[in-house]
Amino acid sequence: MSRAPQGVELRGVEKRYGEVTAVRALDLEVRPGELMVLVGPSGCGKSTLLRLIAGLIEPTAGEVWIGGRRVDDVEPGARDVAMVFQSYALYPHMTVAGNLGFGLRVRGTPRTEIERRVAEAAAALGLAELLSRKPGELSGGQRQRVALGRAMVRDPGVFLFDEPLSHLDAELRLRTRDEIAALHRRLGTTMIFVTHDQVEALSLGQRVAVMDQGRLHQVGTPDEVYRRPANLFVAGFVGSPPINRIALARDAGRLAGGPFALRAPSGVDRATLGVRPEDLAVARTSEGDGEARAGDRGSGEAGDFRAGVLRVEALGSEQRVHLDGPGDAAWVARAAPALRVDPGDRVSVSVAWDRSHLFGPDGRREEAAPRPMPRPGSG
Ligand code: ADP
Repeated sequence: MSRAPQGVELRGVEKRYGEVTAVRALDLEVRPGELMVLVGPSGCGKSTLLRLIAGLIEPTAGEVWIGGRRVDDVEPGARDVAMVFQSYALYPHMTVAGNLGFGLRVRGTPRTEIERRVAEAAAALGLAELLSRKPGELSGGQRQRVALGRAMVRDPGVFLFDEPLSHLDAELRLRTRDEIAALHRRLGTTMIFVTHDQVEALSLGQRVAVMDQGRLHQVGTPDEVYRRPANLFVAGFVGSPPINRIALARDAGRLAGGPFALRAPSGVDRATLGVRPEDLAVARTSEGDGEARAGDRGSGEAGDFRAGVLRVEALGSEQRVHLDGPGDAAWVARAAPALRVDPGDRVSVSVAWDRSHLFGPDGRREEAAPRPMPRPGSG
């Protein structure tokens, strides 16, 4: 299996169902040989996008290109793509070998060629011992691999995966995910993978495309999407526990909210500060020593704010410390297992400002990291 991988390009693609716009004016380029993951909450339009590429549905507007060829009018079977669905849809009365070769038989591929490709796919997927079994005699993971193998024997230029792991239990899900990544490394074929699970997306994708409400919000490497989220939606969707946020409004030339006063970028009157749980450092503090002030560093007890501890989740490798602040917000901090804090404690919390984010009134991330300023009147 050694065909040249094909790139996929969507230009201004839109799909409407009556009143519902499932996909809006969407541009996306998937490079030849790339493993791209489409991720977003349920109903955001991911499957619709995949079906548009496969040719199972037609766009209301826009163009679909595969391998440098416009395919809007090309039948699904002639698009050089193979789709692996959520439900395995295996033929129960056929053996594994029969299922693997079915698509090729329908196409009239010569028998020796079918046998060669089936053997190759079975070897690649560890199914060689199971070729004479029926689907009913296989585990869920094995059935999933047969479904994968059925796409593989077609030797497509592009693989499309529609939430193929969502039926599997947690352990099998991880293993199958690794197998797909390994298969991608081995075959070098373009793969487009749909999931609603952001952890799966970040761990599998070379790049991820984050969608919501039919719109593409950001395309980037997992690192880019996590560290430089384009907007509040991406910041909130990617990462668990979700990014902490607090609303800020312009006050005396600063962006103020809760205990914070930050430098206001020009023209920004309202903003949201976003800080990931791992970018907060929690320290124990002596009881009842007054309010913390933003930017109050170097005064013995450093920290950007004080808060009370509501709850501590001990997860073994880390703790999640739930706080009753800053201000009206309730933030969560990640802390090392060695930190000793209990519900009811007052703690001092420092923010890693250079890794934090400011989102403007339209939700878009400001390029510059937030910068704390002295409070008006505090010197
Ligand atoms: P996802 O895969 O992200 O869960 P879908 O692409 O399946 O989302 O659906 C996107 C939106 O389009 C949803 O609001 C869904 O209800 C709607 N939709 C999808 N298919 C159809 C259809 N055949 N008819 C009407 N609405 C549809």
